[in-house]
Amino acid sequence: MQTKLLIVLWPFFVHTAGPIVGAKDLRACNVIPGVVIVADTMAAKDSILMNHEKIHFVQAKELWYVGYYFVYVKELIRNRVSRQLSGSNAYYANPLEYEAYLHQFDMNYLKTREKCAWRRYATSKKKKILYRDRKLYYEVHSSDSTILSLVPVQ
Ligand SMILES: [Zn+2]
Repeated sequence: MQTKLLIVLWPFFVHTAGPIVGAKDLRACNVIPGVVIVADTMAAKDSILMNHEKIHFVQAKELWYVGYYFVYVKELIRNRVSRQLSGSNAYYANPLEYEAYLHQFDMNYLKTREKCAWRRYATSKKKKILYRDRKLYYEVHSSDSTILSLVPVQ
């Protein structure tokens, strides 16, 4: 499936939206389906980041766009209020984000992805330990953009 994204440079928007969703260092966001707003031109050239945004676009399409935002906000509120996670942990624990972060290094992921694969990362009491691991996974991998292999969190 070929996914084309329109890239828009709008630093103010990205820097304002980041803290709201719990991602202080946000570099890009997919606010309107198919439109990625980036903080700088480097972000637009970052293939890993763009792969991450493509994963969100596919999630949005399969959830009929409105459903994507509903699930995204619902999970964010649930993580913050019910699970009492910090802002950034609530962000990383969102199953839509988790799928995108976990597979952003795999440039062929969308070719083999199962429909609604994000559901696999929906949290349960059993998976609570993953909150910490998810954040660690992202920090380790995002610090080295040359890593292209996928190391799933168990
Ligand atoms: Zn994301």
